[in-house]
Amino acid sequence: MTVLRSGSATDKGMIRAANQDSVLNDTTSFAVCDGMGGHAGGEIASAAAVDSLRASLATTTTAEGLMEAVRAANQAVIDAGGDDPNLVGMGTTAVVARLVGTSAGDRLLLANVGDSRGYLFHDGQLEQITEDHSMVAELIRDGRLSPAEAATHPQRHVITRVLGTSDHVDVDLFELNLISGDRVLLCSDGLINELDEEEITRVLDTVADPTEAAEDLVRRANAHGGADNISVIVIDALVSDGVSSSSISTVRATPPGLEKGEESWLQRRRRLGAPRAITFRVVGFALLVVALIVGAISFITWYSNSQYYVTSEGNSIVIYQGRPGGLLWISPKKVETTSTTLNEVLPIRRAILAKDVTEPSLSAAQQYVANLVQEFKQAQPTTTTTVPGTSTTATSGG
Ligand code: MG
Repeated sequence: MTVLRSGSATDKGMIRAANQDSVLNDTTSFAVCDGMGGHAGGEIASAAAVDSLRASLATTTTAEGLMEAVRAANQAVIDAGGDDPNLVGMGTTAVVARLVGTSAGDRLLLANVGDSRGYLFHDGQLEQITEDHSMVAELIRDGRLSPAEAATHPQRHVITRVLGTSDHVDVDLFELNLISGDRVLLCSDGLINELDEEEITRVLDTVADPTEAAEDLVRRANAHGGADNISVIVIDALVSDGVSSSSISTVRATPPGLEKGEESWLQRRRRLGAPRAITFRVVGFALLVVALIVGAISFITWYSNSQYYVTSEGNSIVIYQGRPGGLLWISPKKVETTSTTLNEVLPIRRAILAKDVTEPSLSAAQQYVANLVQEFKQAQPTTTTTVPGTSTTATSGG
């Protein structure tokens, strides 16, 4: 038989306006969920996941049951979003633990999706059990990034798996054989991003009461800046079946052909064409790009349509809307063939018209043509004088 004692603490931190983390700390069932998504979406997502897990885990007695509970929580987050456009893209991480009885004795099963973590503290040593489902964590596993580079990587917050964004969710599963004195720590990234493992180890090593240890960790994370919501559960094995040493077994839960290690996150992304989980940050960035493109197209169309030019076609003088020769994909459009012909303008103007004359508006273009006619008329002699022996004739052509 295994007897557990646990304590938890959760706090919005020093910067965030609301706490989007939710915690389940219930004798034999535990979960930390870190929600994300604007318009209160993060709070709704993590609360929906925890409510679903609380109900499912109450009757869970097997590893498959725990997997089912996580999948049900995924569906609960999707259902909580409904058709509300403000909740599009909301999701939550989940690191979940459940004590179950097996023929070999009691075991603590641990499941995770996202970058909230589970750790085992045994014999003074802290060991990370879960693997983060984040872009930088997968780049580190592929050897493309060092942990030091990951700490400042601009996309270190991009999560590759999350509950609530897809009907299908891949869940990692671990089985812990605990011995008396072992502690299990579940936490959101708000703790890990503020405290290094050395400081976490020191607290777990010196603060015996699990609630006090959880509260001390949250207090320290806030003292370091508290940039994110912070949630911590400390689970102590008071009595256990294990007698010599604790152990962690990893039970994989990825679909056939997607065994971890065989295919990297980048390879899978290329094969599938897109990541399985898209965080709201990615959606937000895509919307921004679309908005910029639409804005650019609108401006170019507006600019092109606000331009006019006068030119000659055969003997006619015509007015076009647009830029001479066109602007990108926008061709000029003929808006008027004037009643004026090239015979009614000065020769010098005919040469200029052959090269297009731009005007800021249609009325300005029409006025330009009217001015050409006026100019031509003024240039004509008002009388014809006949001198014996010579003659002067007003010319009207070139
Ligand atoms: Mg967080």
